[in-house]
Amino acid sequence: MPKHLLDTERLTTDDINALLDEASTYLSPTGGVRSLTQPLLGQTIVLAFFEPSTRTRLSFEMAAKKLGATVLQFTPEGSSVGKGESLHETFRTIEAMGVDAIVIRHAVDGVHRELATWTRMSVLNAGEGRTAHPTQALLDASTLRERVGSLEGLRVAIVGDIAHSRVARSNVDVLTKCGATVVLCAPDALLPAEPWVDRYERCATIDDAMRTANVVCMLRMQRERFEAGLAIDLEAYRASYALTTARAMATPNVLVMHPGPVNVGVELDAGVLELSQTIIHRQVTHGVAVRMAVLRHHLV
Ligand code: ASP
Repeated sequence: MPKHLLDTERLTTDDINALLDEASTYLSPTGGVRSLTQPLLGQTIVLAFFEPSTRTRLSFEMAAKKLGATVLQFTPEGSSVGKGESLHETFRTIEAMGVDAIVIRHAVDGVHRELATWTRMSVLNAGEGRTAHPTQALLDASTLRERVGSLEGLRVAIVGDIAHSRVARSNVDVLTKCGATVVLCAPDALLPAEPWVDRYERCATIDDAMRTANVVCMLRMQRERFEAGLAIDLEAYRASYALTTARAMATPNVLVMHPGPVNVGVELDAGVLELSQTIIHRQVTHGVAVRMAVLRHHLV
């Protein structure tokens, strides 16, 4: 496996299966994540998040610690970035400390790839603009595999703000490589005008998705990434694309996923979080196990 995890496109189906197989060994039957050995003892990992995060940051931190690594937090606020230091110089400084891997989330596409061209550290992508979120796609596949056995032939609808979603872009790639059929469900304004979209089936409304898919991956409306002038009528959006409790309860066999954070009352209602078909919190658990596998594969 390559030294860096920049996107999922560079992963083969065998790579994905190897990561998911390893992640499954970290999942305890009682529901948590265990650490059997500490293979990363003596290694140092920096978490550099230039965008907000709860689960991805904590999950990488927990994964790294369970494997015995030392974890350092870089926060742009309060760092020399605020004194005008360039990103390049910041990364060179972190590298010069002898850091083994850097986990980066950044809003600008290409920052991760540029760094990987010159650094000695492993670069692990924890979210890149609207382009890629590889560990999210891997943990989604891992969660589904646990629940349904194999993704082969599974019909997965991705519903909501696809245009601004790095999760959607990484997910279509991983799900397809795992043999699932991906269906896209979004209003035109929230579908990207990009050629890859035409490769996938479309579903007009959430009701169609719930009727025809085995799984729905709900997406947050990512207003912080909206272009100037983009306005969405919330009431109309909810009528066609929101997963209400009634809609979910009417189709109890459809699994419900969401990468988080959930905007309750926008794309999904609070009651949905309590249903047994909803596997959103299990996704979080798989996030730790999958990131352990990612760290182990890329650092040892
Ligand atoms: N947490 C995911 C991301 O970082 C999804 C979201 O923000 O809506 O892209």
